[in-house]
Amino acid sequence: MVARFSGGFMSIEFDWRAAGRCFHPEVITLSSGSFKSCAFPSYFGIIRHPKHGVMLYDTGYSEHFAQESATFPGKLYAWVTPHECSPDQTAQAQLLAQGTSPRDVRMIFISHFHADHVSGLKSFPNAELICFKSAFEDIAGRSPLRNLLQGVLPGLLPEGFPERARWVESSRKVLLPPHLATFGHGFDVLGDQSVLAVELPGHARGQMGLLFEDRSGREIFLIGDACWSSRAYEQYCLPSSITRLVLSNWKEYRDTLSRLHQLHRVYPKLTILPSHCSQAASRYFNA
Ligand SMILES: [Zn+2]
Repeated sequence: MVARFSGGFMSIEFDWRAAGRCFHPEVITLSSGSFKSCAFPSYFGIIRHPKHGVMLYDTGYSEHFAQESATFPGKLYAWVTPHECSPDQTAQAQLLAQGTSPRDVRMIFISHFHADHVSGLKSFPNAELICFKSAFEDIAGRSPLRNLLQGVLPGLLPEGFPERARWVESSRKVLLPPHLATFGHGFDVLGDQSVLAVELPGHARGQMGLLFEDRSGREIFLIGDACWSSRAYEQYCLPSSITRLVLSNWKEYRDTLSRLHQLHRVYPKLTILPSHCSQAASRYFNA
């Protein structure tokens, strides 16, 4: 049964910050890009909800990544994808600088399980961990080598992950409002339609995007790694063919990007934020 969206968006205080960055050639993310090494910041969202408290969308890099990549197989990951994240750049440190204890973070929405998105999970011991069950089952069923090749380091997940997790699929399905209907339906993850989770498959199985409205009335769509830059969804630019090897499903990736492109064309007012795009982030802050 799919319910109709009844306009439950409420004003949410939202901040979009980078917790570290990694480096790889631009051509990995855009087939027309150069071979020059570029920095890709890892953004995470701080969502201060008037009813549900402090929540995060992903966590970026953290000191846990450095520990995990000090030995094999994590060492190989860090060698292929060099990164930097100073202690004051972690999600935990940035929250503390804003006067928020990591213990007060109530929920973390996990877009997908790539190491640069989940490295900080262990820093938030009281947070409920919200993700698609299909995303978790995908990584839980893989060999350590296959996880490594797909950018996943299971040692970054807190112990007892399934007990702390809430699966998006258990939330009520809601038909998206007409101007956002390109993706069909979302999931009412908080039960009041103030935040909707949307499945964005292709980059990783069960990747989760998040739709909500910020305090200034702007509708935000956090899209994880459904694409790496605003240029990709604005102009429908695909990544290079090498990148296809690390994507979970190339056909689904193209389909998701095509929907984002259509969404941008029919509703250019929507703020679409890919997790590694500093241009989209600065446009959001400077608008
Ligand atoms: Zn990713």
